[in-house]
Amino acid sequence: MGCSTKTTCPYCGVGCGVVATPMPNGRVDIKGDEDHPSNFGKLCSKGAALGETLDLEGRLLSPEINGKAASWDDALDLVAQKFKQTIADYGPDSVAFYVSGQMLTEDYYVANKLMKGFFGSANIDTNSRLCMASSVAGHRRAFGSDTVPGIYEDLELADVIVLVGSNLAWCHPVIYQRIVAAKAIRPNMKVVLVDPRRTMTADIADIHLAVAPDSDVALFNGLLSYISQQGAIDADYVARHTNGLPEALEAAQSLSFEKLVERTGLPAAELSAFYALWTGNEKVVTVYSQGVNQSLSGTDKVNAIINCHLATGRIGRPGMGPFSITGQPNAMGGREVGGLANMLASHMALEEPAHRELVQRFWNAPVIADKPGLKAVEMFDAVADGRIKAIWIMATNPVVSMPDAGAIENALKACPFVVVSDIMGKTDTVRHAHVKLPSLGWGEKDGTVTNSERRISHQKKFLPSPGNAKADWWQMAEVAKRMGFGKAFDYDSTAAIFREYTALTAFENNGKRDLDIGAYAEISDQDYSALKPFQWPAPMRKMQTTQDQRFFANGGFFTVDGKANFVAASEPSESAVKAHYPFTLNTGRIRDHWHTMTRTAKSPRLSAHIAEPFVEIHPSDALKKNIRDADLVCIKNGRSEIIVRALITDRVKQGHIFVPMHFTDQIAANARVDKLVAPATDPISGQPALKNTHVDIAKY
Ligand code: SF4
Repeated sequence: MGCSTKTTCPYCGVGCGVVATPMPNGRVDIKGDEDHPSNFGKLCSKGAALGETLDLEGRLLSPEINGKAASWDDALDLVAQKFKQTIADYGPDSVAFYVSGQMLTEDYYVANKLMKGFFGSANIDTNSRLCMASSVAGHRRAFGSDTVPGIYEDLELADVIVLVGSNLAWCHPVIYQRIVAAKAIRPNMKVVLVDPRRTMTADIADIHLAVAPDSDVALFNGLLSYISQQGAIDADYVARHTNGLPEALEAAQSLSFEKLVERTGLPAAELSAFYALWTGNEKVVTVYSQGVNQSLSGTDKVNAIINCHLATGRIGRPGMGPFSITGQPNAMGGREVGGLANMLASHMALEEPAHRELVQRFWNAPVIADKPGLKAVEMFDAVADGRIKAIWIMATNPVVSMPDAGAIENALKACPFVVVSDIMGKTDTVRHAHVKLPSLGWGEKDGTVTNSERRISHQKKFLPSPGNAKADWWQMAEVAKRMGFGKAFDYDSTAAIFREYTALTAFENNGKRDLDIGAYAEISDQDYSALKPFQWPAPMRKMQTTQDQRFFANGGFFTVDGKANFVAASEPSESAVKAHYPFTLNTGRIRDHWHTMTRTAKSPRLSAHIAEPFVEIHPSDALKKNIRDADLVCIKNGRSEIIVRALITDRVKQGHIFVPMHFTDQIAANARVDKLVAPATDPISGQPALKNTHVDIAKY
């Protein structure tokens, strides 16, 4: 048996610690890290099967130019020359990076620095746009910063946990297990699930509110109104630490209780019971995930939830607060280094001239992007209509995962220059690359990630680099050098990048910004290698109690006046959600697969859970459409059609269907569900509405 390495799971935002031990037979033994404070040794099925996904079959192991093996020098020279020429001919906004919450923070930092400070464009966006952009926008509107106030321990301390649009049992299983364990110790703890679909998470719920899709703003506006009627507003907290309650309350009170019942589709008694439970218990945590974020009104949903916590002062104290649980392992780390088209590094704001000047000076950069770049959907629109002429895609598979996935494929086919960095050689996206660059995968690369409770953990290298694969940060730094930016990208390790990034968090900060981990700016290579998981704001705050790990119990928001903002939350106009087809299609994850299955499909054990794509159909709808269990079903709308197997179940409501997001056309012919989804987005966050598409179904 080889040496054991403590590392971090590469899948979801729970960010579990893993102990990986290479075995003499070439396999890798995987166990949960009992010392990791986010999972205490527990792993879910995906994490536990990591050792089954590390073989080299299908890996991209050498650079390729136009389908032929090439040297790194030739490939990097070509990428640098094409990007340089395109910028010279058409300006900096003619190029783009589309990156990923699968990348490590150090990779993300280099990508963001190169695009915003040296190309002079903010055209860098990420698949995290599909995951939590609405939470980021909601946090920034309310708190003045993208700060998650709470920690996982709050879920164990709460008396009421409300899970909104979150199938925690399948999508964040270790957090779910922590709640199950807490509820076993304190059976009086109540769990409420708010979800149109009766997911596996309903098994733990005392109340399941099967709301109408996208009625969350109405639900939480109704709650704010109820809180006010009951005299439960914390007047002292509101007066000292917030602005804008009257306007938010006026918006909240615009729907009568009868209208709320109609809009949410919930029986009046259920609605009243939920409002009484929420208001009557001080220790409430409201968890929200993709059912909130992936919506035309995602940002307003987030703010409608936060409004209720601000109104009652239930934020930043043990067992209470709004809590965004992110989908990807490093969606938070990407946010921290500014890996979104509308953000700067270290949680600074692109629209803020002083922040732009500060970051440009710190980087000693020749330029700095001075306006937001194109968000994911807009970015691929610009590829399609020729405004973007060179794009570099890293560690993600937009031809499967983006809405209107067929149009993304067509856009890449027509793009003059496409670079893809990936670990796999034949994904639906890689096949459209002019230049393919082989990247390091989990266990081969080294760097940090940040999980949903702001905990930074090391993802470590314990396997040799296969073939000619190289780290993403190295690929970008080499291109930067070839474009004449060598001095600013002269990194010899991820530790060097980490030092620079952490120094930026503290640069002229003095408590003005939430993120400050400048204490690590001088960390040695050795200490970086041994870095234990830590949660910011540590170590800048003296951590005497776990209360020091939370934000905002006593105000201290990162707005100009230090007060939080209530937001008058509203729903999208009716014309924006007008339905032309009789069924509402919801998409999401299943328990044992990850994203577009490039890794998890390697494990027969994981595929055995659910072996093929399916559509959940209510029994009454199946009867009407003459569809029986296991029949093939055609799902279509004006955009496209797919064919998947019927699973008849009352987990979905009449008129609603559910299809998993993972399956590619390579795995099951004609099963790419995102071909059906319109590229409609939340107007504030730019996050696509992936959970509310209108379709028809028929037996195939
Ligand atoms: Fe990995 Fe998430 Fe499972 Fe933890 S819960 S083992 S981070 S997939």
